[in-house]
Amino acid sequence: MPLNLEQIRSNQNKYSPFLKRMETIWSDMGEKYQEAADYYGFFCNGCEDNCCYTRFYHHTLLEYLFIMKGYIALEHEIQNQAAERALEVCAKTAEYDKTGKIVRLLCPLNYDGLCILYEYRPMICRLHGIPHQLQRPNQGIMYSPGCEAFTKQCEGKAYIKFDRTPFYVEMAKLESQLREALNFAQKFKMTVARMLIF
Ligand code: SF4
Repeated sequence: MPLNLEQIRSNQNKYSPFLKRMETIWSDMGEKYQEAADYYGFFCNGCEDNCCYTRFYHHTLLEYLFIMKGYIALEHEIQNQAAERALEVCAKTAEYDKTGKIVRLLCPLNYDGLCILYEYRPMICRLHGIPHQLQRPNQGIMYSPGCEAFTKQCEGKAYIKFDRTPFYVEMAKLESQLREALNFAQKFKMTVARMLIF
């Protein structure tokens, strides 16, 4: 019988090696990101259009388990506080979604402009900001611009290749191996707020 998320979380011995491998992928990704950031002279020091206000959805069990790993290591009081913030964000999101109003709500892990689980943050939080390209199967290469802060800081600089494709491919492979090992087949789509209260 397929395991649910609670059972999976308690199966640390089984999933830990996959998280280790993910950290290697992320380390390579971080290096490439930094190379591009250095070329542009871009640095993120927070801005009004903070990307932690963006409703990012995360699609891998890997990212969920990694966030949980960091969350469990937090002091109990902070855990409770973050969970309360997450509940509030989820409730407000549901409320605003009913009205069709688009609002930007701060990720519950952002405290005074800083991510309290920075080392454990999901992939998109690591990649955001820099112009990039992505090759989807049977589609051409898609190019996307940097964030607003990037545009302000680095406008006019010629594009340097930053290809997310190999990292997405590696993550997809690892996710599929993890799911097979854990017998987990459910679709996964959660914000960080949702992860914290699931
Ligand atoms: S996980 Fe951290 S970096 Fe990502 S949106 Fe939340 S606070 Fe920001």
